[in-house]
Amino acid sequence: MANKIKVKTTLVEMDGDEMTRIMWKMVKDKLLSPYLDMDIDYYDLHVKHRDDTDDQVTIDAAHAIMKYGVGIKCATITPNKDRVKEYKLKKAWKSPNGTIRAMLDGTVFRKPILVNNIKPAVSSWKKPITIGRHAYGDVYNNFEMQIPGAGKLEIVFTPRNGSKAKNILVKDFPSAGIIQINHNLDKSILDFAKACFTYALSEKIDLWFSTKDTISKIYDAGFREIFNREFERNWKEKFEKAGIEYFFTLIDDAVARIMKSEGGMLWALKNYDGDVMSDMIASASGSLAMMTSVLVSPNGWFEYEAAHGTVQKHYYKHLKGEETSSNSMALIFAWTGGLRKRGEMDGTPEVIKFADKLEKAAIATVENGTMTGDLLALAEKKSTNKKVNTEGFINAIAATLQKKFND
Ligand code: NAP
Ligand code: MG
Repeated sequence: MANKIKVKTTLVEMDGDEMTRIMWKMVKDKLLSPYLDMDIDYYDLHVKHRDDTDDQVTIDAAHAIMKYGVGIKCATITPNKDRVKEYKLKKAWKSPNGTIRAMLDGTVFRKPILVNNIKPAVSSWKKPITIGRHAYGDVYNNFEMQIPGAGKLEIVFTPRNGSKAKNILVKDFPSAGIIQINHNLDKSILDFAKACFTYALSEKIDLWFSTKDTISKIYDAGFREIFNREFERNWKEKFEKAGIEYFFTLIDDAVARIMKSEGGMLWALKNYDGDVMSDMIASASGSLAMMTSVLVSPNGWFEYEAAHGTVQKHYYKHLKGEETSSNSMALIFAWTGGLRKRGEMDGTPEVIKFADKLEKAAIATVENGTMTGDLLALAEKKSTNKKVNTEGFINAIAATLQKKFND
């Protein structure tokens, strides 16, 4: 293209590992570079480079997202014992996603990419359902204990300000049993609420939040109250203006309603509920390669990525010279998500338009029957369906995109 579209502010790019690293480069070379003039702040999160820098590169990348506001990340290896051996690493470095999430203090939102020739398992779902999972506390940071026999369980809270400790009887056990103590922090719940309101407003979709507040009148109802207070104080008007709603309901009711809904909302859930429901939504919507993911920080920073990993098995095939058919949809949508957000922040509608065009080209390619193996197995059977290899898929999207620019 003669005149490339200028992306005004620097984008933070985080490169990754294995098959996704290969697809990442193809996506940039064939779908982005021909059309966009981007200023990129590049961080190579290849596992070997993280090792060489004692993981400083991951920390630098997170700081860059704080500086510029939008980062786009490829999938990365979280090293375990096998990976330490395979790549001769100094140690099993922490998950880059965990490190970045802790630094940005964010919440992860996952949304499936829908195409009309792959039907969700729930026939009423027409629009994607996004899950926002609280990533702190509850059963994931709990205290558990076996109670060996009859006896009293008491807890003591000792305030740090020196006021008198309180001793409360939890249960007078008649016989052996088990206990579990969960906790959460008002600050963490509030940050979660802010991230959910931010995301819903940025996507202009309704926000649903559900807990078991009728039974858990302090704990689950506490979540409800923090969300309500934050909504009334800081979001109500913005939501009205955007024509979207905040809706709280009992989790049982939410589950029943979701199954009959058209989709299209953000469903915010407590840690455990989100863990379980996100797998249900993912499986009902199709393939892992069609799930996008964005980390939204309460400070207004965004990090986009695919929900899947580095597709290790395909990479080993690729190294052996065998043909692969890996799906780059979620990686492409990580870029379009980041570009669209950049365009919104910068006030550059032409960048937003490009992101829309690229997404439409990718979806149209699949809907016209050209797809990778994972999708072919799920798609409605048609004689025009054609399985393509990793590069062939990106080439087909590039051709569709080119046509959109020529039209
Ligand atoms: P994975 O990379 O998500 O792949 C699991 C399987 O899902 C693949 O073997 C493949 O199934 C299918 N799949 C996933 N993405 C696909 C795509 N784009 N196209 C086609 N098929 C796809 O998970 P993993 O193999 O368990 O993990 C590999 C590495 O990724 C690990 O080192 C892990 O640490 C890392 N990981 C990173 C992230 C992240 O950076 N966000 C997330 C998860 C895992 P078939 O083999 O049946 O074709
Ligand atoms: Mg799960």
